[in-house]
This record gives sequence, structure tokens and C-alpha cells, in this order.
Amino acid sequence: MLKLYNFLSRKLEDFNPINPPNVGLYTCGPTTYDFVHIGNLRTFIFEDVLQRVLEANGYKVKRGMNITDIDDKIIKGAKEKNLPIDEFSAPFERAFFQDLEKLNIKSADVYPKATEHIGHMIRFIEELIKKDLAYAEKDGSVYFDISKFPNYGKLSGLDNRILKHGTRVLADEYSKDDVQDFALWKATEADEVGYDSPWGFGRPGWHIECSVMSQENLGETFDIHGGGVDLIFPHHENEIAQSEGKTGKKFVNYFVEAEHLLVNNQKMAKSAGNFFTLRDIEEKGFDPLAFRYLVLTAHYRDKLNFTWESLTGAQNALNNLREIIRDFDEPKIGCAQYEQDFMEAVNNDLNMPQALAVMWDMFKSDYPSSAKAKTLLEMDKVLGLKLDEYLGKKVEVPAEVQRLVDQREQTRRSGDFKKSDGLRKKIKKLGFEIEDTPVGPRFKRG
Ligand code: AMP
Ligand code: ZN
Repeated sequence: MLKLYNFLSRKLEDFNPINPPNVGLYTCGPTTYDFVHIGNLRTFIFEDVLQRVLEANGYKVKRGMNITDIDDKIIKGAKEKNLPIDEFSAPFERAFFQDLEKLNIKSADVYPKATEHIGHMIRFIEELIKKDLAYAEKDGSVYFDISKFPNYGKLSGLDNRILKHGTRVLADEYSKDDVQDFALWKATEADEVGYDSPWGFGRPGWHIECSVMSQENLGETFDIHGGGVDLIFPHHENEIAQSEGKTGKKFVNYFVEAEHLLVNNQKMAKSAGNFFTLRDIEEKGFDPLAFRYLVLTAHYRDKLNFTWESLTGAQNALNNLREIIRDFDEPKIGCAQYEQDFMEAVNNDLNMPQALAVMWDMFKSDYPSSAKAKTLLEMDKVLGLKLDEYLGKKVEVPAEVQRLVDQREQTRRSGDFKKSDGLRKKIKKLGFEIEDTPVGPRFKRG
């Protein structure tokens, strides 16, 4: 039974979908004003693992992920570059999809774009005004009246006492202290980027996008909504207010929120300037999948401090893994116990560090390598490390090299490290590098 930590109840809950075996999953996507950083990618990897775990449990997942292609930062960037907003964001959107592919993140079923849903957003806001949950100001901006929605704060645990009545916030992002009416529609000048609406020229607020695009694709009530913890307030809180305000129904049954990637123990963020992109780590010679492995070594509800040492460790682990499985035989019947232990770990709120430990334990077991191969392929459906590309791809070793390797292993075991190191150098001259792994010496590929 899959258990997920639901932010609505702040408890670990059994996962029960509305309409099994179907599961509706919505995750907040990127704002395409720059390249996404590896902090964003940590969250996207977590969401991919969530989808894979659901599928490993037999569910059929329909996944939506929005692209925020209109927002203050995009408009500012486009203005600076003197480009229309779609031309300005196109390269960042392309790079985003390339990153997903490099990290073996499965495609969502739909990637709705904000700019393609303006009409729907206007109709949604009209409904809220009709229900007296929103009001238009003279300047043409429309705000959600949080005092009219009694459940405001139920996700983020805000205390009602700090609600500020009669004040408004126009910006999309604001602090936890700014618990105020928030903008659904922002009036803009005629020469700015905007659209005609019943309230005048303007553009939608960020929060309304996700309410509209998630419900349109997954229905008024759906199973899981995901994102990073920074989105709990105000973004997800406001999505709930808008959606439940409009429909009178529960918006989402499970909110799952992932912890941040840190650098020097601070949140990785574009605004802080302390970020790396996937390109940065590739330029340093790392495989993007090493970053995926690194992400799997931490539980998604724990912060993960990024260091180049930890990425090197992840790259080494991935290399070891690839070398070990090169020698595996054709997959046959798997190791049932390890498959079960692996599923138990992933079903316990996606405990991936535990799941990786089960995988490494399996290698040390006495099962034949054909059984390990079969189980590994099953595990990799969740891990997503593309291990099938290495499985059984034996390195052809000339007899001379093999003789030196055996000799080196003997001298190493007898403790004569000087001699064994000399043999390693000899082997290297013949074009083969040796690496000592938990399951013995392996050839290393450059
Ligand atoms: P944004 O483009 O800022 O809306 O972020 C896209 C996704 O990345 C959201 O789900 C954020 O919660 C998430 N995110 C932003 N910064 C980080 C970080 N340092 N670590 C992990 N996830 C992050
Ligand atoms: Zn969102």
C-alpha cells in the first residue's frame, strides 16, 4: 500500500485515488524567463519518481505540468532584450525540455501554457466575482477577498489572526506576513503586455493559472498536486482558495511538497545568485544522470545540500553500478525478496535512500546474476537511471589483460599494494582502467 505525506493533514496517509486505477497528478512547472537551475530540477526529478512509483503500483497516471510563459520577470526580460515575450521565453522552454530528457524525466501528458488559457482564466475570475469572492478595483485590477473564504490558510497553517483585512497585494510572490487579498487580474498600461478583459486591459495573476489549467485537464477534484515547499504559501494556498471558492468542492486530495536543494546551506535560487544549471554540471564533466542519482540519495522531504564532492560521489556510484551490471547475464526470474523490499521502501512515502540500499544489498547477495539483472530492470523503472543501456554489455578483455588483473587482485589481497599498483599501471598502458568496487575489481570506461 502506497503511503504519502499529505501536507493538508500533515500526516502520512494511505493513498486512495478517486477513480482507480486512474490518478490525476498536477505539478507546477517552470517560469521560462531563464534556464531552470538544478534546485528546480531536484523537484522535477522527485515528481517523476512519484509518477513512476504510482505506475509501479499499477496506477495509470495522467499528469499535467504548466509552463508559466507570462509573468513579471518574463515581461521585464523581454523588454530589456526588446523581444516579444514568446520569442524571449522560447529558448528557455526548449532548454527546459532538453534538461528533462537528459534526466530521464518522463513527459507529462499535457503542458498547458498560461498564454493559451487567458479566456478560461477570465471566465474563472468572472465566476468568483459572481460568487462575491472577488472584487474589481477602479483601476481595473481584480482581487480575491480572503475574508470571504473561511478555509483560507488550511494548507500552510496560517493563523487567522494575522489576516490583514482591507489590504491587497498585486505582486505574484510575497512573504508569509503578507496575508492579504491577492491579485487575480492585474491592470496594465496599454503599451505593456496584456489582454482585453471585462475589467479593462491587463493580465492574469500567477496563481489563477494553475487553478484553471489543472482543473481543465484533471477535473474539479483530482488526486495529487505537487511542487516545492516554497510554493505552499502563497501559491498553493491561493490555488485552493480560488478553486474551492469557485466549485464548492474539494480541489485536491493530496498535496505533496518537496524540500529544497541548498548550496552552502542556503536555498538555491536565481534571486540569490547561488545556482547551477544542468549545463554547468555537464561542463564540469558530470553525467546528468549522476545528478539524478544524487537526488535519489536524499528523501524528498529532507533538504539536500549540494556540493561538488557529493556529485562526484554520485557519479562514482553510478559508474560502479554501470560496471557491475555489464557482467550480468540475460535477465531471467528475479529476486522476489529484494523486489518486495524495494517496493516497501518506495511505498513508504518514496523512501529512495532506503530503496537504493536494497539495490546495493541485492548485488552482494548469492542470487545468480541473471536474477539480479531481472530485478534491477524492475527497480530501474522507478529509479530511472537508464541501467538497461549497460546491463550485460560485457567489456571484451584480452587474455593478457585478464591475467594481469587476476595477478593484481592476488597481490592486493596479500597486502602488497606497491606491486598491485604497478600492475594497475601496466594494465592502464594496455588501455584498460581498473576500479575496485564493493563486488571486486571492474574495468572502468572513460
Ligand atoms: P519556479 O520556476 O521558481 O516556479 O520553480 C519551479 C519549481 O522548482 C517549483 O516546484 C519550486 O518549488 C521548485 N524549486 C525552486 N527552488 C528550488 C530549490 N532550491 N530546490 C528545490 N526545488 C526548488
Ligand atoms: Zn502552480
